[in-house]
Amino acid sequence: MHATEDLAEADRLMRICNACRYCEGLCAVFPAMEKRRSFAQGDLNYLANLCHQCGACYFDCQYAPPHEFAVNVPKTLSKVRSGSYGLYAWPRALAPLFERNGLAIALVAAFSVAAFIFGFAAWTDAGVLFSAHHGEGAFYRIMPHAAMAWLFGAAFLYAVVALVMGFRAFWADIGAGGTRPQGLSVWQAIRDAGRLRYLDGGGVGCMNEDEQPTDMRRHYHHATFYGFLACFASTLTATFFHYAFGWEAPYSWYSLPVVLGTLGGIGLVVGPLGLMRAKKTRDKTMTDTSRFGMDVAFLAMLFAIGATGLLLLFLRATPLMGTLLAVHLGFVFGFFLTMPYGKFVHGLYRFGALVRYAMEERQGYPVPAPKRRAA
Ligand code: SF4
Ligand code: SF4
Repeated sequence: MHATEDLAEADRLMRICNACRYCEGLCAVFPAMEKRRSFAQGDLNYLANLCHQCGACYFDCQYAPPHEFAVNVPKTLSKVRSGSYGLYAWPRALAPLFERNGLAIALVAAFSVAAFIFGFAAWTDAGVLFSAHHGEGAFYRIMPHAAMAWLFGAAFLYAVVALVMGFRAFWADIGAGGTRPQGLSVWQAIRDAGRLRYLDGGGVGCMNEDEQPTDMRRHYHHATFYGFLACFASTLTATFFHYAFGWEAPYSWYSLPVVLGTLGGIGLVVGPLGLMRAKKTRDKTMTDTSRFGMDVAFLAMLFAIGATGLLLLFLRATPLMGTLLAVHLGFVFGFFLTMPYGKFVHGLYRFGALVRYAMEERQGYPVPAPKRRAA
């Protein structure tokens, strides 16, 4: 017996697929499935987070609807995957945020942006807020650096703690609790995640409603992922410049934080726009449309961060800087707050599933627990 209809359906499909095994060369899901004879909740959540939703197994399946077996692996695993996010949420009381997630994220984003705009208006003299500022420390004439560091540091720390706790719950649920990831397995997972190896539909690309596979979804995903990493690296280098050398933002166009931030901002604009477009062309019969709001809210948030960041960069020497800084910081703050309660978690759990898969490939299934020293 499973706790939800989606888990029960995934169990039924995995039993059919385990007898058929036609798709075993398409991705990691099928080889991982073949190592199992029965599918508990943790196994299904593991397989669901290992699935990259390329759609190849749906188009290749001789048992897909209208066949009476009605096998639809991408859609079913997508539902199980979305359901797993709330299961691991920390604290548990905030798990309902994954329901009607689009609305929740939109409200937090709107509140955060409004709070920064009103905050700046209340605490900063209008003459300062709407003036052009130049040179080192220009941003901090609008909002003191210490206030910015404490506010964002606290929000980021909270997000990291919530994400780590969620990941621990996921790791235990997929049966990996008590096993330690080995360096080679982690490296394999980093390579597979970095290349999005299993988003290639077995080599031809993601399937769409016109049945013409394309790699565009993978390219846009890359732009988003590496754009995010570049923005994160930009923030880290700027923090290092500030505390190690006493150099205050804004930095020159050719400085490392600005180059990384510009590349990252472009990635966060192009990637989410492309993924939204790719979403429109996907075959709706193999996607879980009930979670459309969560996907769109996540992409919209990343796009807003990238677009406002670039606008701030280009207009930082104009009187618009204060307003743009408030809007950009509002989106970033809202993103930090909602990171553990939105689509962001899919990257974390998918990476965990890839590590688990690499461990099973290297060490066999079940992965042996580490030997403990005798007392
Ligand atoms: S998706 Fe269809 S073709 Fe592929 S393994 Fe499952 S039952 Fe077989
Ligand atoms: S949709 Fe793609 S990644 Fe997911 S199980 Fe099917 S072939 Fe594998």
